[in-house]
Amino acid sequence: MKVVVIGAGILGASTAYHLVREGCAVTVIDRADTGRATAAGAGIICPWGSAMEDQASYGLLAGGARYYPDFAAMLAADGEPDVGYAAVGGLYVPADPGELDAVERRARARSRAWPVGAVERLSPTKARALFPPLRSNQPALWVSGGARVDGRRLALALQRAAARRGAQFTSGSATLILHNHRVGVRVAGKGIEADIVVVAAGAWAPALLEPIGVPLPVAPQRGQILHLRLPGTDTAHWPVLMPLNSYYLLAFEDSRVVVGATREAGSGFDHRLTAAGVAEVLNAGLAVAPGLAAWTLDELRIGFRPVAHDDRPKLGPVAGLDNLFVGNGLGPSGLTMGPYCGRLLAEAALGNPVDFTPFAVAAGG
Ligand SMILES: Cc1cc2nc3c(=O)[nH]c(=O)nc-3n(C[C@H](O)[C@H](O)[C@H](O)COP(=O)(O)OP(=O)(O)OC[C@H]3O[C@@H](n4cnc5c(N)ncnc54)[C@H](O)[C@@H]3O)c2cc1C
Repeated sequence: MKVVVIGAGILGASTAYHLVREGCAVTVIDRADTGRATAAGAGIICPWGSAMEDQASYGLLAGGARYYPDFAAMLAADGEPDVGYAAVGGLYVPADPGELDAVERRARARSRAWPVGAVERLSPTKARALFPPLRSNQPALWVSGGARVDGRRLALALQRAAARRGAQFTSGSATLILHNHRVGVRVAGKGIEADIVVVAAGAWAPALLEPIGVPLPVAPQRGQILHLRLPGTDTAHWPVLMPLNSYYLLAFEDSRVVVGATREAGSGFDHRLTAAGVAEVLNAGLAVAPGLAAWTLDELRIGFRPVAHDDRPKLGPVAGLDNLFVGNGLGPSGLTMGPYCGRLLAEAALGNPVDFTPFAVAAGG
């Protein structure tokens, strides 16, 4: 079966990788847009204390976190051990410690069904031993099943692993054509043959789908995110830090701490760092972890999260068309859900039953 995947972010790359593993002839088309989300994403994988109430979306989120250890092991066995994935655990650190009760209740309730791991209250001293720049008076809730991943490294690793198994990669801007309920793909004026087309084009997908009459209620949400470094600091095992507002901190093994992020709805594709955005994130980060104040501001990134109007992912076959699948709307959680959603899309494209009802996409009238 010939499949064309449009978009090589975390979702498209995962879909392509899972398809090629199952023997499909896969072509991936990507135009490396400035601000693609996967290249900017922070990489927190810790849904266990989340206040998300939508059970269908939570199933994808938690399913994504549960899938990671096997998925990372599969990629390692395929020659890609270096994706920045590590089960470092998570620390919930709200400004109001009273909020920890509700987080603890949620994490404990979920531990019956999901790999939440140990759930434990920590004193400020113990919390700071795990993440030394943390403010000194901060009690925390420790959840051992938290993890992190480097989205950039992961997407590139998936692309390389898929290519080694025979996937073809084309740089360029894809367009879609519709004929007798079937969708075809063109790049640089040339048609690319496909039994199935998967559109995983992130925040740019609505513009791609609109000419063939498929409305996709997704919009870009800008995120500005900062990377701090202090060479010589051993950050490899620091946990992810969740203050329970929209900000967070996480560390990688190269003496780096990532502080995220703005959530700017209505941003369009305005790819700029703003004075207010950078100040907002830095202030929030330093309030939680003042010990980072003297670190070097090493890098600033901007990404456009693909956010659905109802905050629900959009996944599955497009009703009314014979051969089109869409994967989108992963919003602020796509690095967690993306590998798993890619597997589900691949399974569905192969004809296996997957219930995408809550995430359905339909062609317009
Ligand atoms: C600042 C920030 C922090 C984040 N932090 C986290 C986090 O901690 N944890 C978490 O789980 N998630 C996080 N996310 C969310 C996550 O990064 C996204 O949900 C996810 O990366 C979306 O992946 P995607 O593959 O759908 O889209 P993208 O990564 O945007 O990829 C879409 C690709 O499609 C290509 N494309 C578009 N149109 C076309 C076309 N016509 N032809 C060819 N190619 C095309 C683009 O060039 C792009 O490469 C964060 C996001 C941001 C921005």
